[in-house]
Amino acid sequence: MAKLIIVSNRLPVKLQEKEGKLTYKPSEGGLATGLGSIYKEGDNIWIGWPGMVVEDAEKQQQIHEDLHKESMHPVFLSEAEIKEFYEGFSNETLWPTFHYFSQYAIYDQNLWETYVEVNQKFCDEVVAQAGPEDTIWVHDYQLLLLPSMLREKLPDATIGFFLHIPFPSYEVFRLLPWRKEILEGMLGADLLGYHTYDDMRHFLSSVNRIIGHGSMHGWINTGSRSLLVDSFPMGIDYEKYATVAGSDEVKKRENIYRANFKNQKIILSIDRLDYSKGIPQRLKAFEMFLERYPEFHEKVTLVMLVVPSRDAVEKYKELKEEVDELVGRINGKYSHINWNPIQYFYRSYPLETLSAFYRMADVALVTPMRDGMNLVCKEYIASKLDQKGVLILSEMAGASKELSEALLINPNDINQLVESLHAALVMPEEEQVQHMRNMQVSLRRYNIHHWVSMFMDRLAYVKIKQLSLA
Ligand code: UDP
Repeated sequence: MAKLIIVSNRLPVKLQEKEGKLTYKPSEGGLATGLGSIYKEGDNIWIGWPGMVVEDAEKQQQIHEDLHKESMHPVFLSEAEIKEFYEGFSNETLWPTFHYFSQYAIYDQNLWETYVEVNQKFCDEVVAQAGPEDTIWVHDYQLLLLPSMLREKLPDATIGFFLHIPFPSYEVFRLLPWRKEILEGMLGADLLGYHTYDDMRHFLSSVNRIIGHGSMHGWINTGSRSLLVDSFPMGIDYEKYATVAGSDEVKKRENIYRANFKNQKIILSIDRLDYSKGIPQRLKAFEMFLERYPEFHEKVTLVMLVVPSRDAVEKYKELKEEVDELVGRINGKYSHINWNPIQYFYRSYPLETLSAFYRMADVALVTPMRDGMNLVCKEYIASKLDQKGVLILSEMAGASKELSEALLINPNDINQLVESLHAALVMPEEEQVQHMRNMQVSLRRYNIHHWVSMFMDRLAYVKIKQLSLA
């Protein structure tokens, strides 16, 4: 029986060791939810790193067996591989380049070589598990070389690839010393998926100018095979967010939190600590808003959740210091005995807490400098059961292509940000409801399950179409 093999850098589980005992917690990410129901069906499996360095062979065997029961298969990575492949090439070369922060990218041959080796390691694991009839779905920027490595070993396999981050314009992509190898690695897939039409266009243009293959309606002919490039904007598990937001537990939490912000409007900002998210720019805009609109002093609070991320990478440590300083400066300048303009939390929260924050927020301020999709803004909309609230969203987030009823801003235009904040805070309720309702209709329909089935159907279609193109 043909099966589906999902491959991503991380497995949809968090492995931890406490007092010598291994624990496995399912991860809550969108991908894990979306694919959760599929990878547990039949013989399907998910292959990836379990999230912890394990050197001991016996322990590795134990993890293997435990995960096997849950339809998962671990790829173990050494400390050095994590440093060079994950923190290094993935997060210090590819991440900044693909998010248009090339000035932060490091180009190091050593890191590249480890990236190739680890992709090969993933390839070996997949090949050991895969039959020629199987469908393999590879995810994200850590595994760009895997499609071609797999194609070489399994020439007839059905291989899909989805990139969860932006694909940059050719002028940025071409800066990578390994640009040709990366594109060739990706071209081993039958279907290459992106969040937006622009990402897809940028990829096609890079393939054309770097490798010389043209395209027709998204189809590329490499000389030996044809493959399709298409866009699939990823949705969220809408019903999950709407249901949690309506639960008694979340309503209770909202009431408790609300009590701290009497007669105040709440602006919410939630992101991982990442330079792509535009956190300092957002803080500066909020500062300017307070300066320009003193009538909002004591009437508005920015609740800012920042989730710790990649703190082993230098740029992230620097960003943390910058954010801390800005929050300190703004609060120092404007605080009163009973009002802090910014409530800053540097930690991560479970779904129920986030849901209470989403419910409580009059405005969600989502202003990344660049984001593949951005799920936070979609979760905010799904959680607004009373349909009151305003989303301010960066044009540079993939989600802005679908959410044209948000207040769209250019995150570099601080003046526009300030005025949008003001517009959001004074927007009449009927207008809020009208926009929110329209965005909800769209997100409810184009949810994560829709995304998965669109991708899988298109992949099956490509295989059939290839026969007639051969
Ligand atoms: N999130 C979370 N706990 C937190 C803050 C955020 O679980 O304390 C989740 C949030 O619900 C969302 C994800 O983290 O699903 C962030 O996804 P997004 O696409 O917005 O940004 P990314 O971090 O993937 O760049």
